[in-house]
Amino acid sequence: MKIRDLSIQALTQKAIQIKISILEMLHTAKSGHLGGSIGVADIFTALYFHLLHHNPNHPQDKNRDRVILSAGHLAPVLYASLAHAGYFEIAELQSLRKLGSRLQGHPALNNHLPGIETSSGSLGQGLSIAVGIALSAKYKKENYNIVTILGDGELQEGSIWEAAMSATHYNLSNMIAIVDRNRVQIDGNTENVMMLEPLADKWKSFGWDVFECNGNNIEEFISTYKRTQQSTQKPKVIIANTKMSFGIKSIEDDYTWHGKVPNKEQLAQFTKELISKNNISNE
Ligand SMILES: [Mg+2]
Repeated sequence: MKIRDLSIQALTQKAIQIKISILEMLHTAKSGHLGGSIGVADIFTALYFHLLHHNPNHPQDKNRDRVILSAGHLAPVLYASLAHAGYFEIAELQSLRKLGSRLQGHPALNNHLPGIETSSGSLGQGLSIAVGIALSAKYKKENYNIVTILGDGELQEGSIWEAAMSATHYNLSNMIAIVDRNRVQIDGNTENVMMLEPLADKWKSFGWDVFECNGNNIEEFISTYKRTQQSTQKPKVIIANTKMSFGIKSIEDDYTWHGKVPNKEQLAQFTKELISKNNISNE
């Protein structure tokens, strides 16, 4: 079976497996970003196991969709998704943040990990990189999407809005930005730190087609993403409403888990919560 053919139920189970991998990676590494990585795991599952045009056996296929993880600290969810999709062995996930590992705390091109399109981590830069790739694709008449995952706190960076303006100026309809709208950032609620609302109106005023959905509902995210493909010549943004640590009830929406890692007991507890919520086996 091709990975694109997975049912919603199978995708839900895949998302749980990816979340458990994230927990295990962070537990072993004893550092990293948990809440955000798990909060977007449903989106990453929908992308890598249903929506994206990509081939783990040919990571450099020239027609592949390009994924730019602008919120580079969410690297664990990217690494786990790539491994589960077959880009490299799942066992390598346990090398996260180790000296000499290809899986550093933020994605880096010079680590030569298959499936990584660009280095990232300095927030606010990914959308500009995506504009460059999208412009190149347009001029060369290449037909693929450039998908950028942005944190919502990251939207407070001015460079995001310079890129947003450029994408409209150049009619970059091959761009899809996905905003992880969990309403929290490292220091608390986004609206208290630096107000983002009315967020959809801001993107619209910059000339983007705006879509909104529940980013923790795989079926809804998939149908929303597909709707972007029937859209106009504008760049597209999906404001995906998510909850940090979604699926782990005891810490869901708790921003203090932005950069904390589970100890042995918490690893067992969180894994149990993920599995019991969805009634699956940890295969
Ligand atoms: Mg956030």
